[in-house]
Formats: sequence, C-alpha cells, structure tokens
Amino acid sequence: MKKVSILIPAYNEEKTLPLLYPELKKLMDYEKNYEWEILFVNDGSQDNSLNMIKALRAADKRINFISLSRNFGKEIAMLAGFDYVTGDCMVIMDADLQDPPSLIPQMLEYWEQGYDDVYAKRANRGKESWIRKQFSLLFYKILETTTRFEVLQNVGDFRLLDRCCIDALKQIRESERYTKGMFCWIGYNKKEIIFNRGDRIAGVSNWNFRSLFNLAIEGITSFTTAPLRFASIIGSIIAFTAFIAALFYFFKTIIFGESVRGFTTLIVVVLFLGGIQLLCIGILGEYIGRIFNETKQRPPYLIREHNEKIVK
Ligand code: UDP
Ligand code: MG
Repeated sequence: MKKVSILIPAYNEEKTLPLLYPELKKLMDYEKNYEWEILFVNDGSQDNSLNMIKALRAADKRINFISLSRNFGKEIAMLAGFDYVTGDCMVIMDADLQDPPSLIPQMLEYWEQGYDDVYAKRANRGKESWIRKQFSLLFYKILETTTRFEVLQNVGDFRLLDRCCIDALKQIRESERYTKGMFCWIGYNKKEIIFNRGDRIAGVSNWNFRSLFNLAIEGITSFTTAPLRFASIIGSIIAFTAFIAALFYFFKTIIFGESVRGFTTLIVVVLFLGGIQLLCIGILGEYIGRIFNETKQRPPYLIREHNEKIVK
C-alpha cells in the first residue's frame, strides 16, 4: 500500500487545530487505499499548539510531530518536514484550512497518473491592496526575466510532491530559503489544479508588516546583515534626491539665471553618482550577507522534541 504524508507547519495554531483534524480524519478514513501519515512541525509555538498536537498523537497513531527549538519560520519548518516525512508522496498544507483538504483526492489521482508535482493554483488572490498587488507583480516580473526556470504565479506551498521531489528538496540546504522558487527550480513533471483560496478559519495570519519590522530590528542587534540593506536604501534615496535637485536647478537656472557657472551640474553629478555608488555597494552587500550566512554552515533548524517512533 502506498503511503501518503501530509506535512503541516504550525505556529500558534491552537484555534485552528481542533477544526483541522476532523477534516483530515474524514479524508484519511475515506481514502482507505492509502496508508496515511500526518506530520506536524511545531515551529516554536508559544500557545497550546504542541500539547494539542500531542493529544492528537495519543489518540491517532497516524500522527507524528517534531517540535523545533524556537520559531524558525515557515520555510525552515517545511525543510524539517521534508527531512522527516516517510511517505511515497507528501502533501504540504497550511494549518488554517486555507488549503482545502477536499483537493487532495484529485491530487492523488494525478499522482497515480504519473505526475510528480501536483500544485494548487489560486484562482483569486484574495483580499489585498492595490499597491501590494503591484509589488507582487513586479516581483514576479523580475524573477521571470532573470531566471531560467518558469516561476509560477499565484501558486503557494499547497501541493503534492512525489518522493523524487522530496529527495531533491532535501538536498537544498540553504538557510535563507525561498521554497516556492525551489519547487520550480527542481523541475520534474508538474500538473496544475485551480482552486479558490478562502480566508483563515480561525486565528490570525502570522504575516504583518509591523511584526516583521520589529523582528528585523531585533535581528540587527544580534546577528544579521541588515545594515548592508540600509546602504542600498540610502543610496536610492540620495539618487532620487539628486534627480529632484536636477529638476529644481534646471528650472531655477532657466528662470533666474546662474550666479556661479557650473555649480548646478557639479552638485547634481556629485550627488547622483554618490547615490548610485552607495546603491551598488548595498546590492553587493546583500549578496555578501547571504554568503556570510551560508558559510557559517549552521544547522538550519534544531529539534527539541518529537514523538517516540520517528526516524530519519
Ligand atoms: N507558520 C509557521 N511558522 C511561522 C509562520 C507560519 O510554521 O513562523 C505556518 C502557520 O502555522 C500556517 C502556515 O505557516 O500553517 C501559513 O501561515 P499563515 O496562515 O500565517 O500565512 P498566510 O496564509 O497568511 O500566508
Ligand atoms: Mg494562512
């Protein structure tokens, strides 16, 4: 019998877990032709999530869990999951039921037909501001024009991956991970399913700009390379200011004439080049920062606790 693993990274999901499990149980009891495993990766939750997962494990031996030593973020939590899932294939799902389990039977069907990566594509992008949408479009545009593999839009982490994809992903040990890109990078035989992504059933999304900003400040004092990013931001601001100054002096000179010849061009050029130089150093810094982080060769995550029978 083929084994299907469901990988669920969970961070402070005490409100959603009681709603999630019955849905999964329904699915597992319905699809009797497969052996099932649910692997929860508790990503350093501060609430009661871990105890709830343990209680679920006590009642249902199809559930396994690993608990990380602190909050490492979803990308790293998923890597931990890749290392420990035991199935012939794996479905990655959020804990908040934004990814409907009802799609899984269809994914399994495609998998049986020989597809290695059955991904769910959102038909709608959900509630989102205009500016955020533009940023996201720009982001995809840049990726699309600079990479050699196809970057899929409106596709999240919700997907079924064959064992060959899991093994491929396990080999990518980068600590700064953009997993969505990795799914595209590994290639293999892909198949798309369209679905409507709903809102969270309970709890709040872990992503908001302020919490990310606070975390960043905290990081500066301990061990990030964020000051390098500061250089690129300052550089852009100066270059932009120089551009405005150029316009200002241009019209001022036209209307009022010049007092000291050459001052205008001089100041504009100096500011502009200075800005561009800082910008470039900043961009270099971004890459050096990443090299710095990778060369430390830290383990990407640490496990504090897991259930008794789990083997790597
Ligand atoms: N998550 C995680 N670690 C984090 C943040 C989130 O494991 O540091 C998990 C979270 O429990 C959920 C999934 O990642 O299962 C998606 O999180 P969320 O719903 O907050 O993201 P969104 O759906 O808003 O993109
Ligand atoms: Mg969510």
